[in-house]
Amino acid sequence: MDYEDYFKKHEEALALIRKKYPLLFERYNWNGRKMMAEISIDFGWLPYFDSLCQEIYDFFNVWDTNNVHGFKWVQVKEKFGGLRLHYDSKKISEKDRIELDKIMSKYEKLVMDFCEKCGKPGKLRTDTGWIKVLCDEHHQISLERNKELYGK
Ligand SMILES: [Zn+2]
Repeated sequence: MDYEDYFKKHEEALALIRKKYPLLFERYNWNGRKMMAEISIDFGWLPYFDSLCQEIYDFFNVWDTNNVHGFKWVQVKEKFGGLRLHYDSKKISEKDRIELDKIMSKYEKLVMDFCEKCGKPGKLRTDTGWIKVLCDEHHQISLERNKELYGK
């Protein structure tokens, strides 16, 4: 798959998640303008992010109540090989926040066993110039790219 195809597939998958759980992504800044949560994780982790959004919907019973009790994604990204989940918790009760943080921790741990590029079983690699969870195949690709770029 070339980069353009990959980018399109990624965009479509993310758009689908935003459409499935719209209330988790609606944010407004101080002057009432709509803002987009920054979701910048790779394709392999999107299905896990989808399940996580579903668990949040289940937790608040959003399907029946249409109420997310102030929950908003702010930023979801990969950093140092891990999943970083940031949400706006200002309007969320202490009790709910504790439960939500348990759900978040579960997913932060879960994705560490899956390649962030393709979602196949993977592990944390530190020898590619980046710290990333990759399957054997993407690890190999990453090592070869390094060899081409830096000759090592
Ligand atoms: Zn992979």
